[in-house]
Amino acid sequence: MNPRHRCACAYFVAGFLPIAFVWCVGVLSLEAAEQADFVLTGGRIVTLDARGTIATAIAVRNERIIHVGSDEAAMAMVGPNTTVYAAAGRTVIPGLNETHVHPTLAARSECTLPFRQLGSIEEIQSWVRDRVAETPEAAWVVLPRIDVTRIREGRMPDRADLDAAAPDRPAAFVWRYANREVQVLNSPALRCAGIGRDTVVPDGGRIVMDQRGEPTGRIENAPSLTATWLQQAEPSQEDYRGVLEDLLRRYSRLGITSVTDRKTDAEGWRTYNDLHSLKRLPVRTTLTIFVDADGSVADTERFIRGLPCGPGDGNHWVKTGPLKIGVDGGVLYGTSYLRDPYGPNAFKLYGLDDPQYRGLLQMTPEQVTNVIRTGHRLHWPMCAHVTGDAGVDMVLDAVEAADRDSPIAFRRFTLLHAYFPNEDTAVRCARLGVCVDTQPAWYYKDGDALAGALGGLRMSRFIGLNVWRKAGVTVAINSDHFLGIDPLLSLNPYNPFLTMATAITRKTAAGRVFGADQRVTREEALRMMTVDAAKLHSDEMLKGTLEVGRLGDLAVLSDDFFSCPEESIPKIYSVLTVVGGQVVHREGGL
Ligand SMILES: [Zn+2]
Repeated sequence: MNPRHRCACAYFVAGFLPIAFVWCVGVLSLEAAEQADFVLTGGRIVTLDARGTIATAIAVRNERIIHVGSDEAAMAMVGPNTTVYAAAGRTVIPGLNETHVHPTLAARSECTLPFRQLGSIEEIQSWVRDRVAETPEAAWVVLPRIDVTRIREGRMPDRADLDAAAPDRPAAFVWRYANREVQVLNSPALRCAGIGRDTVVPDGGRIVMDQRGEPTGRIENAPSLTATWLQQAEPSQEDYRGVLEDLLRRYSRLGITSVTDRKTDAEGWRTYNDLHSLKRLPVRTTLTIFVDADGSVADTERFIRGLPCGPGDGNHWVKTGPLKIGVDGGVLYGTSYLRDPYGPNAFKLYGLDDPQYRGLLQMTPEQVTNVIRTGHRLHWPMCAHVTGDAGVDMVLDAVEAADRDSPIAFRRFTLLHAYFPNEDTAVRCARLGVCVDTQPAWYYKDGDALAGALGGLRMSRFIGLNVWRKAGVTVAINSDHFLGIDPLLSLNPYNPFLTMATAITRKTAAGRVFGADQRVTREEALRMMTVDAAKLHSDEMLKGTLEVGRLGDLAVLSDDFFSCPEESIPKIYSVLTVVGGQVVHREGGL
């Protein structure tokens, strides 16, 4: 017997049997006397269990569900300290699990430069005029981040647009993603930064010139030229944590009971633990820590060993999830790393001019392999930001290398985004136990702008959920909420009912449908935000269904998700959100 097996057997004899005994006693005594902390009756409770049970009542004690079934049995568990709700026939679902949001980033940014969804050149100009008038003391007017796919004209503002709005004040539009940055400066900003025809361009950068050899205002990959004026002040801890808590409460109003912060660090770990100990955390949080290393084995190991937390550390409220790497860029920026060239139609949208261009990588194949193998060796689950199909190929090569070191399927390596699925890729993922975490609301928001640039064939597969699902890959759908605090007007809109409606209808904001065969049913969409989402972090025995023994996380909905008209789905919200039997959100009337 090898030592690992001996260890497992010892655990079974010494640990499991006593636990099993206590559990049996617990179950036997349950019917007789157990008082619940929380009871809900009169609902249409969609449990999502394997039998498809619909119940009317549920009871929770010590965070766990102790009853799912009849009202009568639930009412027998009501004691003097039980919180009781009558759902009055409303639909009740397992709490939603949003596995890709950036609340710490959004909160920090909101404190310094509140996000505004500016949808046209005119709206951009009007925002700049208002800022000029409101902030006479500020040196520069800096626009909030706007993705070009979300500007009606399908182009960035240019120097003339900004000059018209701010003829006497420096103004800058900054568009930054991973290793690509574009700045558009107006004339006063060019003068202030001393940028002219003779300016020395930093390595890898470009100052775009007009026919006369003068700067057009567009500067690419040369942030050092303007860094002095574009620096943002750090918010106070108090402000930052206040906005973060507010944002997490906004998630609760939409029935979200668990989130994954998809890019955080040691400070994020402390922040969430502090909020939890102060009882200010309304959602369960899994942290994805970004690997801040140079891509070598040694530096990756140094980084991982220096973390204040280990794999799976924490509790049911705050715990560590996978480590993260960033492999390619983004589809909104023309930096997804694709198998085939973007093609001539993408030039206008992204400002590209190389017919062979296929996107950008942030890491070499060797670096990706180094980090994934090292993380796996040090017992961490891992995930990778990767949007393009060629980027995914590269990541799967690295996952296969790690799998040859030791089996990796149980760690549920996760591809974040993976927007252009192929059948061969899906089969490879299924074999390696690789999961996918993807964002239908990008299809909704950006599909119309991207269709022209990427072409019909690519669009029919863009965020194609069924390509993955048919191969047996676990897929979680979510928003990648990044900036702003409004559920619909943020970048990206985090309303989970918009996410699910888009997966169900595959309608873009303009009502167009690309790849109708990628539509899923309402139940499948809900499963991808509950049962399947839980699997990404190996939480399926805790979350995702409403069954005895699972955590008591649920949402009572304002409308029936299963029978309301499709166009009403995005308007649904939660009238009562419960986490571990505690009410974290309640609308009037319930
Ligand atoms: Zn993200």
